[in-house]
Amino acid sequence: MKIAIEELAGCSGCTIAVLDLHEAILDLVEAADIVYSPVIMDVKEPPEGIDIAFVTGAVRNEENQERLKKIRKNSKVLVALGTCACYGGISGLSMMSSREELFNKVYCDLDTVNKNGIIPHDVPEFLYRVFAVGDLVKIDYYIPGCPPKEARLKEIILPMVKGEKINLSRKSVCSECDRKMVEVKDWSLKRRHVGIPDRETCLLSQGYLCLGPVTFCGCNASCPKNNVPCHGCNGPSLDILREPCRDIYNMMVRRIADLTDIPQKEIEKELYDVGHTMYAFTMGSEVMEDKQISKIREVISQEGNR
Ligand code: SF4
Ligand code: SF4
Ligand code: SF4
Repeated sequence: MKIAIEELAGCSGCTIAVLDLHEAILDLVEAADIVYSPVIMDVKEPPEGIDIAFVTGAVRNEENQERLKKIRKNSKVLVALGTCACYGGISGLSMMSSREELFNKVYCDLDTVNKNGIIPHDVPEFLYRVFAVGDLVKIDYYIPGCPPKEARLKEIILPMVKGEKINLSRKSVCSECDRKMVEVKDWSLKRRHVGIPDRETCLLSQGYLCLGPVTFCGCNASCPKNNVPCHGCNGPSLDILREPCRDIYNMMVRRIADLTDIPQKEIEKELYDVGHTMYAFTMGSEVMEDKQISKIREVISQEGNR
């Protein structure tokens, strides 16, 4: 069994998450040879004849696109590893700025770079938008998460290389959260830095924008368990993905309206920062953008470079 991990537009955190299997990595290397991974070994190009390749990161430039096509061609099974690969992830947010704004920021404006920085011309050309890998090539399996958590990867990667059956929950983050829903009075939206949430009660019913109901499970609700609202890093729940009339934004509005006595129109006014709060991890996904009710097109055309 030969396995590989390819890196596209991401932070390499998903590959580090594989290393975070700790001692289980020994079982992995016993079952399979890691023949290619630019982050953990010095191999420049993927060989042919890979059995399972994991691809991390989104497609933002021409080099990412070429690498994705090559790893698809060289592999029998291709797995999208992490939310960037599955839905565009954080790279998708780059569509809210023009290429010029992004390059100025990265090469000239940040505190950590020379103020007279030079914008290079010999870097791979930007594509007109970000793509999730499944928008461009056939993907056999998706493992979302930013990055996928160690316990989740243990449940998936080892059985996968051993050819065993994998049974996973397909519910939302709320299914893994043990907070209690209470009767809601005088609900008002609170930004996450405001106050200290009660540790027992559902964060959404306290006014914190917790995306648990619309987010795929697999992290053991690690943020709500640490008193922080879920911001959706596992990507959309399956019902959001599959149902054309469901989208992250409209389902959150409906959920809050059900919980409170506030009309949907008023909730919509409160949730004005839709790009950063609702689509922070999915803006680069054509599947999510193409939903008729998606707000992604609006956010990109108002603020972006299209
Ligand atoms: S999904 Fe998250 S951890 Fe993985 S490459 Fe993207 S930003 Fe990094
Ligand atoms: S909305 Fe958030 S806090 Fe409430 S049950 Fe779901 S995950 Fe837990
Ligand atoms: S609770 Fe939400 S933001 Fe936190 S790790 Fe899970 S999916 Fe990501």
